[in-house]
Amino acid sequence: MDFNIAIDGPAGSGKSTIANILANKYDLMYINTGAMYRAVTLFAKENNIKPEDTEKLADLINDLKMHFDKEKLIVNGEVINDKITMPEISNSVSDYAKVQVVRELLVTAQKKLGEEYNVIMDGRDIGTNVLTDAKYKFFLTANPEERAKRRYLELTNKGLNVNFEDILNDIIKRDLIDSTREISPLKKADDAVEIDTSNLDIDGVVNCICEHIE
Ligand code: C5P
Repeated sequence: MDFNIAIDGPAGSGKSTIANILANKYDLMYINTGAMYRAVTLFAKENNIKPEDTEKLADLINDLKMHFDKEKLIVNGEVINDKITMPEISNSVSDYAKVQVVRELLVTAQKKLGEEYNVIMDGRDIGTNVLTDAKYKFFLTANPEERAKRRYLELTNKGLNVNFEDILNDIIKRDLIDSTREISPLKKADDAVEIDTSNLDIDGVVNCICEHIE
């Protein structure tokens, strides 16, 4: 549609928090594409499907009925947000997200949503591949330690017993896989505005984006 916003950046750069706020402010549908790759990972692992089982992965994805209700991701009638943010999913999601058939099927669904609705979509390849014509594109970054700190607080606030070093290592490993994979690697689109959020709070990032838009 004519008012789409693309937000890309590495894990923990604040994309989903910011996208949620902007979705409410500008009345946009929020599509968290990372959650879609996480959903595929969750169901693949539950069904013992490995990243190299590409035919089984395609069948699995075709059977998943995914839709978003604000920040909630509902798959086959179940809200799965808590399950997909668990460390065991974070640890393996990048291995599933680099598989060609997984990307093709999810990107097709994401492009369709972008054509039908005014959306704000966050991920790794939104500005470069999914919503190439988005009216606004932003690329959020922050240093790995700051991003790990945010993820650590998010998980401990949920009552999970996690280790900071493990989270930092997971973020560094995912950054590497996501930015060096063959298909649609994590990359700033040439026409995206880059914002380093390391020393900004949430309001600071939102204000910065709104200034660009308005
Ligand atoms: O955004 P989030 O950290 O939840 O994304 C989880 C993973 O999904 C990323 O590390 C990446 O491997 C994959 N992803 C992707 N393309 C997107 C969104 C996420 O490959 N557009």
